[in-house]
Amino acid sequence: MNKPAICHVVPPHILDRLAQHEDPVVYEPARRTLEHDAQLRTQRRITTVRGAAAPTGTPSDKPDRTIYDAGHLEALPGRKVHSESDQPSTDATVNRAHAGLGATFELYLKAYGRHSIDDSGLPLIASVHYGDKYDNAFWNGEQMVFGDGDGELFLDFTLPVDVIGHELTHGVTQYTANLDYFGQSGALNESVSDVFGSLIKQYALGQSADRADWLIGAGLLGPGIHGEALRSMKAPGTAYDDPQLGKDPQPATMDDYVRTSRDNGGVHINSGIPNHAFYLLATALGGNAWERAGKIWYATLTGGELDANAQFADFARLTAASARSLFGDGDEIQAVLKAWSQVGVPAT
Ligand SMILES: [Zn+2]
Repeated sequence: MNKPAICHVVPPHILDRLAQHEDPVVYEPARRTLEHDAQLRTQRRITTVRGAAAPTGTPSDKPDRTIYDAGHLEALPGRKVHSESDQPSTDATVNRAHAGLGATFELYLKAYGRHSIDDSGLPLIASVHYGDKYDNAFWNGEQMVFGDGDGELFLDFTLPVDVIGHELTHGVTQYTANLDYFGQSGALNESVSDVFGSLIKQYALGQSADRADWLIGAGLLGPGIHGEALRSMKAPGTAYDDPQLGKDPQPATMDDYVRTSRDNGGVHINSGIPNHAFYLLATALGGNAWERAGKIWYATLTGGELDANAQFADFARLTAASARSLFGDGDEIQAVLKAWSQVGVPAT
């Protein structure tokens, strides 16, 4: 059976740089994390075909969440420590994972009528305390996995709810457009995860587009790091600038598009461009971003027209078509066209 791509939240360009650091406190966790992530990627080579993962379960309006404790080992899922009906755990990490899975389920159900990741009530499984000072979180095609971070550079990966939403959205993409995890389609895959990750946070906090921080991973970086998050949708390229992490390499427009063979062809880098287009659309429309802007993106991702190897311009054209079919010939379609033109991607 084909396995889906492993989608990590911390990209290799950050870990690479840390791995070359002279201080073992910095390079040891980074090297271990890199080695581990590379092994995972080789074990599970890209990708499922559309619809290959068969939906399971019965759609319900309630999530079915189970949290496991990996006990700092790398065997999944680990020991079962929390199920849906349990009282809150004494472990804050377990409670955050439970709440983050719930916030994700909630946005997809309430805003888009989607029943869990597969739209058929898929149970949500997460393992926490994975590995030793493991500096990442990922969706492995079947479940969520969270490291505790090394405590210096990265804190506990359950802290930002948008990181949880980002990873679970890789699952939604896997069950829908199944965008190839390479080049522009891979950057779209990453961007869609950032968009819905941010919307999950905005929905949970009740924030309108102009109040949201539009950051991915705020609260994840250690206190000594010069930076506020992993990525910024509002101002790609400005999330961090730190002697240890390096500088955020994300472009905001096609003028600064990065050609690279690293990071699956820059999937975590060029995602800045569609991320910024979504931010421009949502703030131009105003109000709650998960409503009009989010519906346009959701319809594009799930509508069945988006090819697995779609390029930015294909995606842009389909968002325009979705805007028109959802909202007619009004502000929405105009705002979609303007947002893409501001980032240099043709949408017509
Ligand atoms: Zn991702």
